[in-house]
Amino acid sequence: MADPIFRAPKGTHDILWPESARRRALTAVFADIVEGAGYTEVVPPMFEHVEVFHRLGDATDVVRKEMYDFLDKGGRHIALRPEQTASIVRAFSEHRPTVPWKAWYEGPNFRYERAQKGRFRQFDQVGVEALGPEDAHLDAEVIALAWLFYERLGLRRVTLMLNSLGGPLDRARYVEALRGHFSSDLDALSADSRTTLAVNPLRVLDSRRPEDADLVAAAPSMLDHLSDDAAAHFERVQAALDSLGIPYMIAPRLVRGLDYYVRTTFEFVAEAFDAAQNAIGGGGRYDGLAEEMGAPATPGVGFALGVDRTLMACDAEGVFDAPTTTVDVFVVDTTGGDQALSLTDELRRAGLRADRAWDARSMKAQMRAADRSGAALAVIVGEAELESGMVALRDMRGDAGQETIHRSSVIDTLLARLQ
Ligand code: AMP
Repeated sequence: MADPIFRAPKGTHDILWPESARRRALTAVFADIVEGAGYTEVVPPMFEHVEVFHRLGDATDVVRKEMYDFLDKGGRHIALRPEQTASIVRAFSEHRPTVPWKAWYEGPNFRYERAQKGRFRQFDQVGVEALGPEDAHLDAEVIALAWLFYERLGLRRVTLMLNSLGGPLDRARYVEALRGHFSSDLDALSADSRTTLAVNPLRVLDSRRPEDADLVAAAPSMLDHLSDDAAAHFERVQAALDSLGIPYMIAPRLVRGLDYYVRTTFEFVAEAFDAAQNAIGGGGRYDGLAEEMGAPATPGVGFALGVDRTLMACDAEGVFDAPTTTVDVFVVDTTGGDQALSLTDELRRAGLRADRAWDARSMKAQMRAADRSGAALAVIVGEAELESGMVALRDMRGDAGQETIHRSSVIDTLLARLQ
């Protein structure tokens, strides 16, 4: 085959059937769970004024390096969303719904990242955000919903990593402690981490460079810097998870990429992946973000789950299979095509999933198309059937063979057979 003239841009990919159907099914499972827990869908725009995302923290990689931003024709500085929490909280601030406000969302995000396996420049997430209550049980609720989602997909090898970043003051004190720790031995740090240290000491903890490993391992722990309030909140989250039977690992170095997190932070890790891209979802509390967006101070907690990586985890565990077919019935018509035209229409109106062959091909070619469609049954009309007002019904999968039935009874028969 000749090379195509165009390919999808780097870091993006086309999602063809059956993977596209599998994604839709995944979103449906998610929607079912979160709507059943009182979360309502919000569909924010895919782009915002760039300042909305600056609230994620000017020192974060997402804002500093990865944003798709541009001036539109009206001179506005716009950015494609790199995540959706900022948009949802902006929407909260704009519309001021009554609290508790529990929202869910799905859809693509855009980050100019180094494209590799499991890391794309356009990727889908599903997520929830709950604004209003400060209650630690709400942190546990959102975690439990993500857990239930993974369970419904059939995933068994997911680990919940849990940490607390404390309140804003605790966090600031911890950042200073980290700065002190890493600055005490600057020469031992990689050049990249020295740059990171200057803008965001927390991110140095994320370094996976071997030369940084010793200093990172010896770094002070956030959990030693929690105020009494933050420590009590964190304990209540853990007690709630214990009582719900959700296992977790305390991960004192889990800082997450965005600046707005305080108190509870968490990540879901797929054990089937190697360490570099093993996060399939994450979230936490962001009690200061609503105020930053101009709303009255309102606590919030939520998560975003990566759809692409979750499906990769499903592949690795051999669960949540893609569908193998879209139609149940295939109409084969060797009388010229009029029968296929009317029969498929009748079947579809009756709620059956039906397809047909084209171009008045031979019986053999049409049967091959029926086979390829994956349909369980074929309805066959030849000259003899047409004359006698009958159709043949062929079992395409089992060994029930073929029977001839009245055309007028075809829908009832199919509905009964496909139950
Ligand atoms: P974050 O918004 O960075 O906390 O990401 C939440 C989840 O989205 C991660 O755990 C990943 O599963 C997924 N994710 C984030 N960035 C990417 C990306 N560039 N490509 C694919 N998935 C991503």
